[in-house]
Order: sequence, then C-alpha cells, then structure tokens
Amino acid sequence: MKRLNIAAGNWKMNKNYEEGVDLAKAITAHEVKDSHTMVILGTPFIHLKTAVEVAKANPNVKIAAQNCHQLTKGAYTGETSVDMIRSVGAEFVILGHSERRAYFAENNELLAQKVNTVLAADLRPIFCCGEALEIREAGTHIEFVAQQLKESLFHLDGAAFAKVVIAYEPIWAIGTGVTASPTQAQEMHNEIRQLISDKYGADIANATSILYGGSVKPANAKEIFGQQDVDGGLVGGASLKANDFIQIIDSF
Ligand code: PEP
Repeated sequence: MKRLNIAAGNWKMNKNYEEGVDLAKAITAHEVKDSHTMVILGTPFIHLKTAVEVAKANPNVKIAAQNCHQLTKGAYTGETSVDMIRSVGAEFVILGHSERRAYFAENNELLAQKVNTVLAADLRPIFCCGEALEIREAGTHIEFVAQQLKESLFHLDGAAFAKVVIAYEPIWAIGTGVTASPTQAQEMHNEIRQLISDKYGADIANATSILYGGSVKPANAKEIFGQQDVDGGLVGGASLKANDFIQIIDSF
C-alpha cells in the first residue's frame, strides 16, 4: 500500500478568527493535484469548528487541534478535552511539539498518556519528535529520537500505532530558517521507519507517514519531500500564507 503524503500546517498561536477562516478557505479552495496527498490544518481551538465546516468542501483537507489534555474531563480550567475536539469534527491532534515540550514541560511519559487519550477518542495523533542542537552536535540524535518514540508510542499495539502520523522536527530547524539537509532528513526518517519495522513489522512501517518539520518553504519542499522516507511536512511559518502553503502542497 502506498502511504499517504501529508502537508500539515501548524498555525501555532497565530491568526484571529476572521484571518483563520480566510486562510482555511483559501487553502480548501485549492484543488490538490495528487489524490494521494492529504492536507491538514492545525488550527487554534477557536477556529476548529469553522475550519471543519470550511474543509468539507475539499475531501483532501482535514483539521487538527494542536494539543489536548491527557484526561477526558474535569476541573482543569483552560484546558480542552479530546471529546470537545472530536465533537467539532477535527480528526487529528498534534502532540509533543517541541514548543509544548519546552514551554509546557511535556515529557515522554505525559505524551504517552496524551497519545492514549487521543486514540481512545478515535482521533489520530501527529506525534512530534526531534533533537536539540546540542544533541545533534554530540552525535546522539538517533538514540534520542528512538527514546522519544519508545517512551511515548511503542507501548501501543499495532492496530493503534497504525493510526499515528510521525513528524520528525529537529528543534534547531524550527522557525530558524535553517532546514535539515535532505540527507539529514532522510537519514533520520529511515532510522525511524526501521525502528517501527523492528517493533511492528514492515507492513506497518511502510504504511506510516513520517513528516519532516523545520523551516519547510516553497523553495525547499520539493527536494525534502523527494526523499524516499519523507512523506511530507509539518509546516509552521510557511503555512500562514496561503500561497506559500499551496506551493508546498503542490511539491509532491
Ligand atoms: C513547526 O512549528 O512545526 C515548524 C516546523 O515550524 P517552521 O516551519 O516555522 O520551522
């Protein structure tokens, strides 16, 4: 089975409601050329319901939340549950973004709980992993990412794991303008696929979409997406401009 190519936008804490609706409309209006490509918009919670409505016009476009709480309900002021996310029709939740790990103290153990909660709600996690610059410079990046996957995902059974999308996002490349070279991306993606294969077998490994994230833009998307084990991108800055993101969608 050919695995899906995915262009996922992570809007982070950008766009007021009106701006977000306009962006979702502009992207949804674009006809995706390759029917094997899925477009995902990771919007703030405020935009989710409308984004789902807008995306109904284009079967290739799906909507993601950027986070959720690990518990399903209760006295957690300011938090958002998987049931709330599911109830507005979003299908994905971005988990473990490096900004959540750095600014909100999310660790591998907490993320394992969030992964379970997301899957139990019949949502799909886009699970982010990736190393800081010091770790890359020390040459231990592969072991570091392997540990993130083992501690947050590899407790799942094969059927559950098959619903996960992975996003490899080296922290030194996020929002910095520095992109991992296509060779660096391919090396890590290949290692990740091998780890999945060792744990779950080749069929599941070959069906898993592994996205690259870190300063993807129209000028570099084609080369990065052209790598054998790179199945698309999780895109921050360039997903905020409709024309840039559309060019990225058309880079497969
Ligand atoms: C991200 O936030 O997931 C990301 C990759 O950001 P940027 O594309 O801006 O580097």
